Amino acid sequence: MGDAEFIASAGDWRYGSNEEDGDEGWDGLCEVGKKQSPVDFPETEEAKKNEDEVEPLAFFHYKEAVSTNLTNNGHTVVLNINQPCDVGVASGGLRSLYFLDQIHFHWNSEHTVNGKRYAMEVHLVHHNVELGSFDKAIKKSRGVAVLGAFVTETTHPNPVFNSVIEGMSEARDAGAATVLKSTFSAADLLPKNVANFYRYEGSLTTPPCLETVVWTVFDDTLHASREQIEAFRELQTKEGPMKFNYRPTQPLNDRDVTWISTILPEEEPEHVFAEQNEISAGRPTKSQATVLILSLACIRIILRTLS
Ligand SMILES: [Zn+2]
Repeated sequence: MGDAEFIASAGDWRYGSNEEDGDEGWDGLCEVGKKQSPVDFPETEEAKKNEDEVEPLAFFHYKEAVSTNLTNNGHTVVLNINQPCDVGVASGGLRSLYFLDQIHFHWNSEHTVNGKRYAMEVHLVHHNVELGSFDKAIKKSRGVAVLGAFVTETTHPNPVFNSVIEGMSEARDAGAATVLKSTFSAADLLPKNVANFYRYEGSLTTPPCLETVVWTVFDDTLHASREQIEAFRELQTKEGPMKFNYRPTQPLNDRDVTWISTILPEEEPEHVFAEQNEISAGRPTKSQATVLILSLACIRIILRTLS
């Protein structure tokens, strides 16, 4: 089957009828390989420790307000970031700069930690800037970087979900879309502590399940109230309510999961969220140099769009 055909056929799928069989009926839609996602993370002691002293992740423009569309695609709710060349992540062992394309949600979580499944999991999906676009990047090894954040259920609501939940009420039906009215920045959907995370190489967790994803799943979690989580379950697929939308965990095979614990600068832990104007100040640091690359990449994309 050719690539285009493979991806086209991947639109017509659904989650299985039982919660434990989320990928029932996906045979022939998914890449068959040994690097599938999600996986169960072994406990920290058993995970391979970060021995390379990896630098912290560096986030670019993650705290800036971005214009965001919200779509119910029948499988999940997706926030499409309308300024894809503005928001990015690098460092943290990623080996390249990645631009944010979209954010979506799973309930319950897809990854598990020593068998523990969380209430939800947020996926922030990026493509490798060197590959030009998401469509090209999903076909190349480490072309896609997904940041995953678990959500735990708490008694008190989390205001960062308000704008998404408000948008969802206008996009209940499969295929419906709206524009988020409230201000939204991608950093809202990162946990507070971004220093510690699991890292492994895997796949997209939905058809066509291409094995081109470098995964980063944070140790720290977001939280949401039961009512907020239930609001997601009110979304509709073509067949009925979207009760759950997670794929079961896949065998690790001979892959390593690395536990990466980075050291944020004590005085300015916020430095991992760089802003473009920092580049004008003196000799550039490594992350400022990355901002320069980011800016040049943006200019290239803008020029390409204009020509
Ligand atoms: Zn996902």
